[in-house]
Amino acid sequence: MGQPKTSVVADRKDSASDALTLRDGSRIGVVGAGPAGSMFAFFVLEMSSHFGLKVLVDLYDPRDFSVRGPAGCNMCGGIVSESLVQILAVEGIILPPQVVQRGIDSYVLHTDVGSVRIDTPLEEKRIAAVHRGGGPTGSRELDDSPWNSFDEYLQTLAVGRGAFLIRSTIKSIRRHGDRPEIVDAAGDRSDYDLLVIASGINSPLNEFTASLDPSIKPPAQKRAGIREVFLGEDRIGSVLGSSMHTFMVNVPGMEFAAIIPKGEYASVCLLGKSINRETIDRFMESPTVRNLMPEEWDPRNFQCRCLPKLAMGAASRPYADRVVFIGDAGNTRLYKDGIGAAYKTAKAAAAAVVLHGVGARSFRKYYAPVCRRLTFDNHIGRVVFFVASLIRHFKPAQRAVLWMTRQEQNKVSSERQMSTVLWDMFTGSAPYREIFLRTLRPKFLWRTAVTLVTTVFMWRRTGITYWQRQA
Ligand SMILES: Cc1cc2nc3c(=O)[nH]c(=O)nc-3n(C[C@H](O)[C@H](O)[C@H](O)COP(=O)(O)OP(=O)(O)OC[C@H]3O[C@@H](n4cnc5c(N)ncnc54)[C@H](O)[C@@H]3O)c2cc1C
Repeated sequence: MGQPKTSVVADRKDSASDALTLRDGSRIGVVGAGPAGSMFAFFVLEMSSHFGLKVLVDLYDPRDFSVRGPAGCNMCGGIVSESLVQILAVEGIILPPQVVQRGIDSYVLHTDVGSVRIDTPLEEKRIAAVHRGGGPTGSRELDDSPWNSFDEYLQTLAVGRGAFLIRSTIKSIRRHGDRPEIVDAAGDRSDYDLLVIASGINSPLNEFTASLDPSIKPPAQKRAGIREVFLGEDRIGSVLGSSMHTFMVNVPGMEFAAIIPKGEYASVCLLGKSINRETIDRFMESPTVRNLMPEEWDPRNFQCRCLPKLAMGAASRPYADRVVFIGDAGNTRLYKDGIGAAYKTAKAAAAAVVLHGVGARSFRKYYAPVCRRLTFDNHIGRVVFFVASLIRHFKPAQRAVLWMTRQEQNKVSSERQMSTVLWDMFTGSAPYREIFLRTLRPKFLWRTAVTLVTTVFMWRRTGITYWQRQA
């Protein structure tokens, strides 16, 4: 992180007399030490030290991320784009190889009518995988494992900068005078100059937000599903290879699914409108998944499972005087890159409080624009996913997408338009706005329309598809 610019220093000096400004000894409470909470603590300590400002940061989280199974895990697919890994490195958050595995160099798109492998369009568009906890239930002792938890690593960085980690659950939040006050599991009360809510979407704490300010409403949410399936390293290599496998198949309630190789395990993630155990069973038993997995594999055999909530967007007005909501509790990206959104909101909130104060005015001016950009992009994301759902329900469209992608991957066409659109959509490497604008290019629209019409025409007349004829 570079030195602050002079105008910014002046701005901070101007507001230094304001009661809603941090000063030496100001106390900040951060509820939740997932990616958003730990990164906020890291940034706020880092930035305030640039101004010679000594703030005290308490970071609350009951989870021990070295524990295996759901109790020590923040329940996520763990896909991180290479560009985010690079951005974090520039910020001083350098993820070691035990935390971020860069083995994934391609993905395979599976549909009801066939599959296609898509290689990374560009080096910086590679994807990495992380574990959000100590590993699946029953996984080997950590000493043997080449993996360390991403969340534990971020927490350690925050503590290294001076944050005080308190392993406790916050049971309630309220206002005490003009200051926010929290009550922990032991019944102890603490009030703070600033309270940062980074407790994600799975926390019952969301029920208390209205007591801070009635206009604050938590984000909409849905259920997602995760299962960890042990296959062993050899079978992971032969079955999944170094690819993330994504599925655009027609399973009721499911928007999309991914199977991600992680060491000896395959992480199965399902996102959609209504995910429950039956949806996951139906997906695991679908012909597409059965064809991919080893013959002797039992779809009902898995080592770890959870049905976490998935944040579907923004909290309404995620701030008030001395309170700010970040990460999933404040705003996130639709279906993708929640860790990237946690980074963006954590950094923006830290900059707002250090440079401009902890009042609602500061958050409205310097934090809300970042949230608005995420929200706007999510609106476009909804359109992108609506089109994807039409394609999922219409087999000729699935065939057209597969054919265009195969043609690009076989380098018949020099431009990889469809491959790049799909890559960015499934990995979250680019904003939805960028993906959408790319699909509006006349050449892309023309190629898609011609392929679709040809596919429908041939399928009707001969029962074979255009690409089968080409082969
Ligand atoms: C199925 C699924 C797959 C996903 N896959 C990906 C993916 O591949 N890539 C990606 O980037 N994102 C993914 N996400 C999204 C990602 O998990 C979140 O966006 C990200 O974890 C948000 O970080 P956070 O710090 O805001 O919240 P969280 O990671 O949820 O962390 C919140 C923390 O707060 C703590 N906490 C909660 N309540 C309290 C309390 N009362 N007191 C104290 N502490 C508390 C919790 O223990 C937790 O550690 C996925 C989500 C789901 C559901």
